Amino acid sequence: MQRFTWAEVDGAAITANVRGLKRLAGTAALLAVVKADGYGHGAVPSAEAALAGGATWLGVALVEEGEALRRAGITDPVLVLSEPRPTAMARAVASDLRPTVYTAAGVEAAAKAAAGLSSPLSVHLKVDTGMHRVGATPDAAVQLGLALAERPELHLEGLFTHFAVADEPHRDDTARQLAVLHQVADRLAGLGVRPDLLHAANSAGLLAHPAARLDLVRCGITVYGLAPSVGLAEAAVLLPALSLKAEVSFVKELAAGEAVSYGLRWAAPADTVVATLPIGYADGVPRNYGVRGGQVLIGGRRCPVVGTVTMDQLLVDCGAASRVRTGDECVLIGRQGDEWITAWEWAERMDTIAYEVVCGLSARVPRFWL
Ligand SMILES: *Cc1c(COP(=O)(O)O)cnc(C)c1O
Repeated sequence: MQRFTWAEVDGAAITANVRGLKRLAGTAALLAVVKADGYGHGAVPSAEAALAGGATWLGVALVEEGEALRRAGITDPVLVLSEPRPTAMARAVASDLRPTVYTAAGVEAAAKAAAGLSSPLSVHLKVDTGMHRVGATPDAAVQLGLALAERPELHLEGLFTHFAVADEPHRDDTARQLAVLHQVADRLAGLGVRPDLLHAANSAGLLAHPAARLDLVRCGITVYGLAPSVGLAEAAVLLPALSLKAEVSFVKELAAGEAVSYGLRWAAPADTVVATLPIGYADGVPRNYGVRGGQVLIGGRRCPVVGTVTMDQLLVDCGAASRVRTGDECVLIGRQGDEWITAWEWAERMDTIAYEVVCGLSARVPRFWL
């Protein structure tokens, strides 16, 4: 490492999280979602840690992400969570990925891609039950389910939907979405079409809506030890897997009134010691993190990030009495001594969610697996 900025990922935490989620899921299988490079943690090691904890499925957003898992030697079932473009279907099949389908063109492309296989290609049909992102309408899903059943090249392994507000348990939209999924399943059953697996729950669905557990739960954020919302923080024991750290690269004393960084937006109210950390917005620390009250841990204490976060560096007010030195380890996410900064703390300061914080850590930050 030339620049002392890094993330540490605790694979044992991921394994323990999955074990706990599986207990909660009861008889439902657990699909660990490892899209977006395992929510910024590293897709392949995250997948391995999740499988060690009892996950039996993996989920990805892109065909390329599924291919990367196969290249790493992972042979477990992988579901591509959205319908691949027809031109990508052959590659999905070549890597033994389960495509999601929700259009007639998608079913056609899947059948074509499956034509040479020795056994039918398993596909999952996605129903839009109210989120209106992707998926077939309930009526279209029944038609597509029927069309799938008539294709000997295809096997309707799964019928599923995705929730829009499962992380807000007081809203009744989730129960309504689940009811629509059941209606589609019942209509298909009436026509003699029975998928092996019915699934709906994301992490929040698993935690907050027991009726949504069905045959399989698709957990992403909780696998990494983060709650899907602040309100669900107590719903399961989760161990955050990722810590973000940097070593102080420079220390200076500032006199009262001296200002720092682009825009000179913060001036020292009194004489103080300011440390420079070699991490910035190109690594995933928001430019306004300091302005919004963001802190880092140095010497087991919380110290404010001051001034504008720059592309590669940021500044921390350590206080006049600080003995901070170049090379001291700082924690931006994680624990130091008795203090702890969570991805959710970042998220709340920046009006976003912990998902965006961990996915926002850029490829420039090396990930070290403990
Ligand atoms: C991302 C995703 C999930 C996982 O959601 P979490 O809230 O991270 O658990 C599950 N299902 C689908 C379809 C997704 O796109």
